[in-house]
Amino acid sequence: MLAYRLLQAQMQPEFQEVPDPHAGPGQVVVRVAGSGLCHTDFTVISRDRQYWKTDGPPFTLGHEIAGWVEEVGTGVTKFKNGDAVAVNPSWASCGRCHMCRSGEENHCLYQKAIRAPGVGYDGGHAPYVLVPEERFLVPIGDLDPVFAAPLTDAGITTYSAIKPALPAIWPGSTVVVIGVGGLGLYAVQFLRLLTGARVVALDRSEPRLKLAREYGADDVVSIGPNAVEQLRELTGGIGAIFIIDCVGANETLTTAVASLSWRGRLTMVGADGGSVPFGFFKVPPGAQLTTSLNGGSIALMDVVQMAALGRLKILVDRYPLDAAKKGYDDFEHGRLVGRAVLMPLVSEVKSTGGERSAAQAAGAP
Ligand SMILES: [Zn+2]
Ligand SMILES: [Zn+2]
Repeated sequence: MLAYRLLQAQMQPEFQEVPDPHAGPGQVVVRVAGSGLCHTDFTVISRDRQYWKTDGPPFTLGHEIAGWVEEVGTGVTKFKNGDAVAVNPSWASCGRCHMCRSGEENHCLYQKAIRAPGVGYDGGHAPYVLVPEERFLVPIGDLDPVFAAPLTDAGITTYSAIKPALPAIWPGSTVVVIGVGGLGLYAVQFLRLLTGARVVALDRSEPRLKLAREYGADDVVSIGPNAVEQLRELTGGIGAIFIIDCVGANETLTTAVASLSWRGRLTMVGADGGSVPFGFFKVPPGAQLTTSLNGGSIALMDVVQMAALGRLKILVDRYPLDAAKKGYDDFEHGRLVGRAVLMPLVSEVKSTGGERSAAQAAGAP
């Protein structure tokens, strides 16, 4: 099969012919319906050889995967051929610690490094992917796997960041989503679905802010020198009780801390590499600052169920697998609004409607 692979550290990925995978004991081969493109992929490509230790390239990219079970190894009992599944990417998790057994495999206490399909293991940018254990599969029922693919990272990352904040968000309080691209549009929707708070979207791009309104944002604010002042005004001076930063740059984090209320919570999911000082009177008293990375199998089940009920709008730009380079190029140059998903079996995927192209969404011709 032809796979889109990182052949060497810090080199541009290439298509390469590799053998079709087969399922050994306990393993499952999934026929890939959709494999999402993610900002993390650029980080993966940029890592130097030393970072990888023994798990370095070559490997196939793609960690946001959904499709159908194609082959099960001996001992696999909970899934059978043809089952529609999404793939939990926390493949370096142990499966037996407290976190893993709570469905938070992303926080496994014994994982030695962040490894996942497309991050050390062969991933989903190929017609088939070998899943090392059946516990990484989540059934998706009738949900189109192309929509399920981005839920396995973009969806659960924002959901897992929001869920622990819920008890402290009261109706009428203000919550803020910074950066309403592929991640942030999920955050806007989860906050609308799960809270009674006023949802404010912050972004630099006007078309994205327009889209955020369509996805349920009550107010929008342009990122810039007046953003903090505007947010303070919107909240009658008290600030936001919860802020999710889907960018994670110095500027967005600084804006977030300055806009947070006393005892507010700021969670950073964007991986832009920014940081912000933490200390007495450097953040509002009682404030909680957290990061959040990916999610776990329970979070994936939750977001799959919300999508299956039709409660989530999932914005997907569909690319055939052989257009992978173009997909990443569009991503890198800001030509996507939603999530780009590669489809190795493009002619066999049935659209269930509901998706829109990025170009339409952004108001382009
Ligand atoms: Zn991702
Ligand atoms: Zn564990």
